[in-house]
Amino acid sequence: MKQLEELKGLGPKGLRLLNQLGIHTISDLISYYPFRYDILKRTDFNTAKKDDKVVIDGVIESVPRVFHINRKLDKMDFKMNAQGYILSITIFNRGFLKSQLPIGTKITVIGKYDPLHNHIVASELRLGTLEKETIEPVYHTIYGISSKQISHYISAALKEPFCVEDYVLSEYQEKYGFLSKEKSIRIVHQPTNEMDLKKATERIKYEELFLFMLKMNYLKNNKQNKIGLKRTVDYQKIQEFIDTLPYSLTVDQEKSVQMIYQDLMSPIRMNRLLQGDVGSGKTVVALIASYMNYLSGYQSALMAPTEILAEQHYQNAISLCKNTGMRIGILTGKMKIKEKREVYEALKQGNIDLIIGTHALFTETVEYANLGFVITDEQHRFGVNQRSSLKNKGVTPDILYMSATPIPRTYALTLYGDMDISSIKTIPKGRKPVITKIASYRDMKQVLKEMYEQLKFGHQIYVIAPLIEESDKSDFENVNKLSEKMNKAFGKVCRIGVLHGKMKPAEKEEVMSQFSNNEIQILISTTVVEVGVDVPNATMMVIFDSYRFGLSALHQLRGRVGRSELQSYCILMSERETERLQILTQTNDGFKVSEEDFLLRGSGDLFGAKQSGDMVFQMANLKNDFSILLNAKQDSEIFLEQFDQKNFMSNKIMNLIEKSMDLD
Ligand code: ADP
Ligand code: MG
Repeated sequence: MKQLEELKGLGPKGLRLLNQLGIHTISDLISYYPFRYDILKRTDFNTAKKDDKVVIDGVIESVPRVFHINRKLDKMDFKMNAQGYILSITIFNRGFLKSQLPIGTKITVIGKYDPLHNHIVASELRLGTLEKETIEPVYHTIYGISSKQISHYISAALKEPFCVEDYVLSEYQEKYGFLSKEKSIRIVHQPTNEMDLKKATERIKYEELFLFMLKMNYLKNNKQNKIGLKRTVDYQKIQEFIDTLPYSLTVDQEKSVQMIYQDLMSPIRMNRLLQGDVGSGKTVVALIASYMNYLSGYQSALMAPTEILAEQHYQNAISLCKNTGMRIGILTGKMKIKEKREVYEALKQGNIDLIIGTHALFTETVEYANLGFVITDEQHRFGVNQRSSLKNKGVTPDILYMSATPIPRTYALTLYGDMDISSIKTIPKGRKPVITKIASYRDMKQVLKEMYEQLKFGHQIYVIAPLIEESDKSDFENVNKLSEKMNKAFGKVCRIGVLHGKMKPAEKEEVMSQFSNNEIQILISTTVVEVGVDVPNATMMVIFDSYRFGLSALHQLRGRVGRSELQSYCILMSERETERLQILTQTNDGFKVSEEDFLLRGSGDLFGAKQSGDMVFQMANLKNDFSILLNAKQDSEIFLEQFDQKNFMSNKIMNLIEKSMDLD
């Protein structure tokens, strides 16, 4: 196959833009699928109503007249004959086309229809009449490159011979009557009718979902036998510990504790997902569970997705568990080698009972004396793959996953299959729902006023800087710019801190601990604070450019406030798309938010695919393609059962799966 650079008509600028879209090879290019299609069908005038979008073709009847309204605006008028109907057409800023539109030119017009005056204000003109139906692929783009250009490059690539790896076994190919992969790819980019397009997309989606489900099932089957550890613990002791806590447990916390107790006491290995909305109090449940494990003589490990969160859990554990006798340690990537070595040694000797850390906990160098229980916090942040990293430790601990992103039950069952689920739905007593408002930048004064109110009460505020995708550097600039503004407004009345991705872990931690100790009152941050951080005195969250975040991410951010009996506020600064943001002003229920997110965006964000790289599909979507997913699930199970080493194709598939898991 050719190199991307060699593609006809692709210059250095085009190449750079394609690279920015993640396209580096011809095969990346041809698997850069459209995210939607525009279907152009001739409008039936008998049913068209005022302001309908219409597509109509015909011939030009009058010489177009161009009016120059001002330097930036011109207007062109002409008459058109569409199968006997005479329509007048107006289009703006296309005056330059006039010379191409003499009387008798065949043309297609797309625009808004006014039946009373037989008039169309066109948004687009095309030369030529309409085919029966035209299906136009629409690609995700970035500034500087249009969907049309991408389509153009793809057509050039499709003209050359190309080869694609095909991972659908011939028996399934037959079973579903799929087209070949090559043909499907061609159709997806250059569809001629909806029927073929449907078949082609199904083929491609199926392959993606099959490989995905295969990976899931492979992980499940590979899971060490289901025999767990034997323990006996007197529940009385657990109750005594619970009684020392500064609050009483909510009903659902208590239920979860009891379920976990039963799991741990049973000889079957525990594999439980504890889901509960942000702020519902999952951490304490994890600590109680670790205590059960400690009493039965094993070590526990609690893994958090970020260093800040690990540190916070550590402080929390030290304070809540001070009278339990548990020896608690922390291990994160940024610790000095010498400190790490000490922790390694202590873990190996069994001198630490509960270790809290980031995924540094499961790197190869770490050996445990008798690891019996593993908890991963914010599970959705880790990939499914992390599940297999325990395998390397040669142990069969009980496992508890915690997640604040509620997954609709059917999907959870499909994806996590053999997992038990506990849900915490009740929130701690006395909490007031966070009041959420949308504000535009014109309202900035009012927003600052409201911030000032909170500061006067002695409360603290998070400010989230606009999201920048391209680089960490600009991310840092954004935070700094915002901090200058805030300093102007509040520099005299409070201390302001910043937190961004470019800071060293130690610096981040310093700022975070200053914020939790109320030495800083306004924390300006990127989304580093998105998960888990707990500062109950913070009562306001202001999120800039909120329209750029997914709903679930916003809900997580909002979950940083409303963590005490104080009334909290969340202000979503946004110039656009306020309709979507409305959902957040209407509900504080993470489950509802995630359902909406699911409907709006598909599954990607919900399962944290962005972070984990696990569930990024080029075309498939877990919600819309659920029935294909079910087929793929079943087929992948059969595939694993009947796996035949001698079959070339089966081997190829298996290699891909194993390789994809090593990579992470
Ligand atoms: P999450 O489920 O989001 O991880 P946390 O475990 O961080 O939530 O708990 C959020 C806050 O609620 C913490 O400040 C914690 O101390 C507090 N909390 C937890 N359980 C209760 C309870 N039963 N009553 C009152 N406050 C609680
Ligand atoms: Mg948490």
